[in-house]
Amino acid sequence: MALAPRQVSVLGSTGSIGASTLDVIARHPSDFSVYALAANRSVAAMLEQCLAFHPRYAVMMDERSAMQLRDQLPAGSATEVLHGADALCRVASAAEVDSVMAAIVGAAGLPSTLAAARAGKTLLLANKESLVMGGHLLMQAVRESGARLLPIDSEHNAIFQCMPVDEHARPGLAGVSKVLLTASGGPFRTWSWEQMREATPDQACAHPNWSMGRKISVDSASLMNKGLEFIEACWIFNLPAEQVDVIVHPQSIIHSMVQYLDGSVLAQMGNPDMRTPIAYGLGWPGRVDSGVAPLDLVTTARLDFTAPDEARFPCLRLARESVSTGGTAMAVCNAANEVAVDAFLNGRIRFTDIPALIETVLERVTIVEPTTLDVVENADTEARAAAAAHLVDMTGRPTEATLA
Ligand code: NAD
Ligand code: MG
Repeated sequence: MALAPRQVSVLGSTGSIGASTLDVIARHPSDFSVYALAANRSVAAMLEQCLAFHPRYAVMMDERSAMQLRDQLPAGSATEVLHGADALCRVASAAEVDSVMAAIVGAAGLPSTLAAARAGKTLLLANKESLVMGGHLLMQAVRESGARLLPIDSEHNAIFQCMPVDEHARPGLAGVSKVLLTASGGPFRTWSWEQMREATPDQACAHPNWSMGRKISVDSASLMNKGLEFIEACWIFNLPAEQVDVIVHPQSIIHSMVQYLDGSVLAQMGNPDMRTPIAYGLGWPGRVDSGVAPLDLVTTARLDFTAPDEARFPCLRLARESVSTGGTAMAVCNAANEVAVDAFLNGRIRFTDIPALIETVLERVTIVEPTTLDVVENADTEARAAAAAHLVDMTGRPTEATLA
């Protein structure tokens, strides 16, 4: 007898990772069934996904979007429309759900990611910001509930695949000496600081190898994405900062590596397409077809590696330093970055102002122990307020946050 399909909640379904997740699910209708979809305000995209996947629930962030979606769904639709942060946590932790794809962008994803972890779900974690902010809480929840954390970020997925199963929390015992985190270098890999000063949002979002949402694309251009991933690797694999190295590898064919004390280095390779780590997460511990073309190494021909340049890309240093500081420093770094990226995308600051803004916020906000979700969320709020205040100093204009 065939097993019942796995019930999946896709949080952030209308985004880049969400759409790739549904693409993989659609290839395996008898293996996976969509329990819930959740998004911010993209009603049209959500409507289309509801019609194609017939989820039990569709969750929109606000009531207005939920009403619009309800009006547009055909009469008799089996999909119930909900809204708000509590509903998001409910569909992340419902008893019927097996796997949760956490693919909301930014700090907004933390409560629902944590809810899935606390409910013991198989947690497919794309929302790296939730680990950066609340790594301590999230890893504790995973340990206590017996949730299975499967990293979807391609680098961490690669590391996960290169480590012996069940030794992820104790890499030292498995003979791991280092994790080698690869970075494409982003669209400005070869640009000078002066060139980056004039960079536009569209140039920052034109990633050479990956197609992604705008926030993570800017993070990739500043190398803050690698900084966030550095923090993510320390949490997921329980490693001190000294055991994580960043290596620039412009082709994005090797997605990261694990170095063992006997000299072995294991790498995971593939074409740069997020459907590979997503399919790994959905099919784990088995493998399912992702629709990604097989890797052709002869066409690829060469793989290059260089050290990252932290003088041109200070965001990587700031993220590393926030790991050494510990406590809520990582949450503060993340929040300041979200404000800075938003200000850059809206034409308020230059690309090269992003690290300066983050550094100022890290100096001004008091760092405390991240004991509860409230403490972490307060640090996030405080950092956003400090960032907004400094933005006024930088630009002479208040932000929406300071006006509110
Ligand atoms: P995106 O901007 O394309 O999509 C974000 C999704 O989150 C959308 O569906 C949006 O509606 C939803 N959303 C935003 N705010 C919300 C809120 N408050 N409540 C509910 N839903 C909300 O982003 P993306 O590129 O898909 O990235 C998603 C996450 O995955 C990010 O944390 C990113 O760092 C991570 N990630 C992405 C990639 C990639 O290739 N795109 C790779 C690795 C990791
Ligand atoms: Mg990544």
